[in-house]
Amino acid sequence: MTPSSQAGTRRSLQSLLLKRFGMAVGTYVLTGLLCGVGVFAGLFNAPPLAVLGIGALATFSQLVFLGLFLSRLNLRLADPSLTEPQVLVALLWLTALLSQFSEGRGSLLVMYMLILLFGVFQLPPKVFARCALVAFLGFAGLNLYEAYTLQLRAPRMALMQACVLAVVLVWLCLFASYAQAMRQRMRQRRFALQAHQDTLRGMMRQLEDLAATDELTGLCNRRHFLRLASCELENLRGDRQHGLALLDLDHFKRINDIHGHAAGDRVLQTFAAVARACLRDGDVVARYGGEEFVLLLPNTEADQFTACCERLREAFSRAEPLGVQVANLSVSIGMTLLSADDDLDEALQRADQALYQAKRDGRNRCAATWEDVDA
Ligand code: GH3
Ligand code: MG
Ligand code: MG
Repeated sequence: MTPSSQAGTRRSLQSLLLKRFGMAVGTYVLTGLLCGVGVFAGLFNAPPLAVLGIGALATFSQLVFLGLFLSRLNLRLADPSLTEPQVLVALLWLTALLSQFSEGRGSLLVMYMLILLFGVFQLPPKVFARCALVAFLGFAGLNLYEAYTLQLRAPRMALMQACVLAVVLVWLCLFASYAQAMRQRMRQRRFALQAHQDTLRGMMRQLEDLAATDELTGLCNRRHFLRLASCELENLRGDRQHGLALLDLDHFKRINDIHGHAAGDRVLQTFAAVARACLRDGDVVARYGGEEFVLLLPNTEADQFTACCERLREAFSRAEPLGVQVANLSVSIGMTLLSADDDLDEALQRADQALYQAKRDGRNRCAATWEDVDA
């Protein structure tokens, strides 16, 4: 993964975590409102100062979490989501709040589930079970403490509530481990799918290369050349010009006849190697068919283009194909210039006429559509 994509992933993770934090804060606010309604309805006989104190401490704890998220310090921790600490802190405040509500306490038991739900998809099963145990011990411990200090008003109701809480927490633990297993399986499937996609992409690239390349010479083939040349022609602006040339090896049939087809193939490969060595990066040379090649020099002048074709012609006449004793290798070249309003087919026909002219004038030479060029 590149550094910029890593930064992007971190940014989107952080914004997701901030959204979840917002949901947690919303839950705190709702709990506060519910407490307000309970107090107003006379269900919670709690000392207002103690409840306000717990509210203030809870708010402070959330500001600490917010600070960690905003300063991005959370990203340095093993679990940047801070799910476990957030759940544990929320359980602590809920238990502290319940300790102030002796009557009507049971109606807020459901808040334990709400808090733990935040960890269902996020926490590993063991950590989730630990949080559930903390919730249960908190509530049970609170009731036991009150029983010990003789403050517990309805012990049977408290026992019933603790049992209900235990059952619900066990169920939540089972559900959390099921959700985690599902998540794991989906992650594995995503990885497998990604691996398949990578393989397919690689195969597509290979197929594209195969479809664009001439097998014998390794140059691009006619179809690919025509596509590239059309693109280059579309990008041609103003009075700029591209050089287009058709190149035909001279008396190639004779080479085949005298030295054999394999030697002919070697000569074709030699021509391709010479062309590659003579041309620059942006230039395109392709096998047009048989012993014919085609050349495109983007953004060139007539003189430059002629010099390049001459260089190629001369280099080929000096070439010595490996393992084949062929004398007098030569190529004839027909050149034309492509301008912005040109048609590619017509330009190829012009180059072909120039090539015919070069052959007629005695081969081993360049001929141009714009003027006569001496070999
Ligand atoms: P000219 O100077 O007029 O171009 O004559 P030439 O002999 O080069 O042209 P001609 O069209 O008469 O012959 C071309 C030969 O190229 C005929 C064909 O068998 C041969 N050829 C075409 N493709 C291949 C190939 O892939 N390998 C080999 N070895 N020969 C090929
Ligand atoms: Mg030919
Ligand atoms: Mg030929």
